[in-house]
Amino acid sequence: MAETQIQQSDAGSSYDAVIVGAGFAGLYMLHRLKRQGLQARIFEAGSGVGGTWFWNRYPGARCDIPSVEYSYQFSDELQQEWEWSEKYATQAEILKYANHVAERFDLFGDIQFNTKVEQSAYDDEQRLWRVTLSNAEQVTAQYVIMATGCLSVPNFPKIKGLEDFSGNVYHTGLWPHEGVDLTGKRVGVIGTGSSAIQSIPIIADQAQSVTVFQRTPNYSVPARNAPLDPEFVADIKSRYQEYRAQNWQRGFGADFRDSERSALEVSEAEREAEYEERWAKGGLAFLAAFADLPFDDAANATARDFIAAKIADAVDDPELAKKLTPDTPVGCKRLCVDTNYYQTFNRDDVTLVDLREHPLQAVTATSVKTASAEYEVDCLILATGFDAMTGAVTQVDIRGSGGQSLQDKWQEGPRAYLGLATAGFPNLFLITGPGSPSVLSNMLPSIEQHVEWVSDCIAYLNGHQFAAIEAQADAEDAWVEHVNETAELSIYPNCNSWYLGANVEGKKRVFMPYLGVPPYVEKCREVVANNYEGFSLVQLSPH
Ligand code: FAD
Ligand code: NAP
Repeated sequence: MAETQIQQSDAGSSYDAVIVGAGFAGLYMLHRLKRQGLQARIFEAGSGVGGTWFWNRYPGARCDIPSVEYSYQFSDELQQEWEWSEKYATQAEILKYANHVAERFDLFGDIQFNTKVEQSAYDDEQRLWRVTLSNAEQVTAQYVIMATGCLSVPNFPKIKGLEDFSGNVYHTGLWPHEGVDLTGKRVGVIGTGSSAIQSIPIIADQAQSVTVFQRTPNYSVPARNAPLDPEFVADIKSRYQEYRAQNWQRGFGADFRDSERSALEVSEAEREAEYEERWAKGGLAFLAAFADLPFDDAANATARDFIAAKIADAVDDPELAKKLTPDTPVGCKRLCVDTNYYQTFNRDDVTLVDLREHPLQAVTATSVKTASAEYEVDCLILATGFDAMTGAVTQVDIRGSGGQSLQDKWQEGPRAYLGLATAGFPNLFLITGPGSPSVLSNMLPSIEQHVEWVSDCIAYLNGHQFAAIEAQADAEDAWVEHVNETAELSIYPNCNSWYLGANVEGKKRVFMPYLGVPPYVEKCREVVANNYEGFSLVQLSPH
């Protein structure tokens, strides 16, 4: 395919669509729009494709959904030809895959790297977006697609004295590309979410010592990662489409072997056997052992007790095991997947500091101080997560119809219709936006579903002489209410997770993702079948 022939004018380049971000969402969006014959361009802040897998290069980074599922399905040739080497691919392998996709589908020529989108303002008169880039260039486009990622803006907590620290400070989400040699270093790690849980065992193998500063313990299930069995791969590849279709019927859109049984309807022995089997196989499928784990406290408590016993088995010191054991429902904060995380705390050179017992007070030039002790460290790793789901969207100064600011509109929490669009912002699309299953699903299929919905929508608008589409405020209100009601039926609002924005100081506490892939996909289909129900479509008219 030829590189986009853009129209140049005094007002800058003009495109049919500007796509923000070159992660898996942006890449597939570009491919689809190019195939539809549109002039589209990606602007990407980083210097390469891959998004999450471009930025998160910390030791041990890998996916926690099996790679045969955490991969694109839009091209059967691609899914047949690509060979994953392990059950859970490493960051490096996933990044290689993203580059392969960009190369294979001839996308590089239409991506501008090292370019941040800073502002996007809708011109009601001309019905186009004026997009301002970090190089001060301005471009215009009929459509803007925010493929900016749910977990792409690192969260830097305000810790007193952090700026005075004399050693290096690393964030897992912005890990140096050349790697970091931690040999002989006394390393401090702040945070115990998925990034910390993946990296701590590997850091401990390299560093002189590791001090882990834990505010809230997390549940983690063993990954049981291993090289992929060629017979297993051959079997999946022989029925890939059928396999993918089955997964679309599952709650999280992934092959978690969803059970329909209640944890409370089976005998204790049966329950334990089910948990044991899933623990032995490893991975997030643990969460689907019983249908009511995400919805019923008593059912969930059985999973809590099971994992608590496993932590007690893994950790030699019972007091330490207790500190590492969460008191929240399993899955309320995203379940983690690890290799030897809890066991790492048996090492003499690894120390756990419980910040709930001993609050973090300050960082000095050489140490981290809690209310009761001071820990000398040579470098600090912030495994402190992201301004999730809204951070990357609200970082851009987006102005919709009449100059309305999206930051203002979302101040009390994000409002979006199906997580795809937001009222007052015509021709602006969100990929895996708030109100879609996104982070409560296998994200690659969810990304593909959104990209296909958006590209089909654009094809429909262009084919039917429509100039613009916009979510209706009442449809958006009803959807936001439905998202909240669904969440209220579950255990998800019962802890301080990033799903609620609770990890970022001052962020409004609102549950952001939608729970349930199959009903969501069905709703998206219905909306289209009913002529874009809940959206207003504006006919082309001479200005
Ligand atoms: P991203 O990959 O985040 O890409 C967004 C891109 O947009 C980034 O490159 C960013 O630089 C760019 N960008 C943002 N704002 C701007 C701007 N204003 N201007 C220009 N560029 C901009 N999900 C799973 O389902 N399974 C997993 O196993 C899994 N593992 C994960 C592991 C880690 C460490 C993390 C952080 C997330 C993980 N996720 C996982 C979620 C993961 O983010 C998604 O699966 C997926 O990669 C998101 O792709 P994306 O294209 O939507 O966004
Ligand atoms: P996270 O889950 O948000 O964890 C951040 C950690 O930092 C939490 O333990 C948090 O404690 C702690 N923290 C934040 N601010 C702090 C402060 N001021 N003082 C002390 N501690 C503080 O972030 P993450 O680990 O980067 O993971 C984010 C998401 O990315 C995951 O949930 C997952 O969806 C994805 N991910 C997946 C994988 C994978 O296995 N494939 C790996 C990494 C990430 P509190 O809990 O008390 O807030």
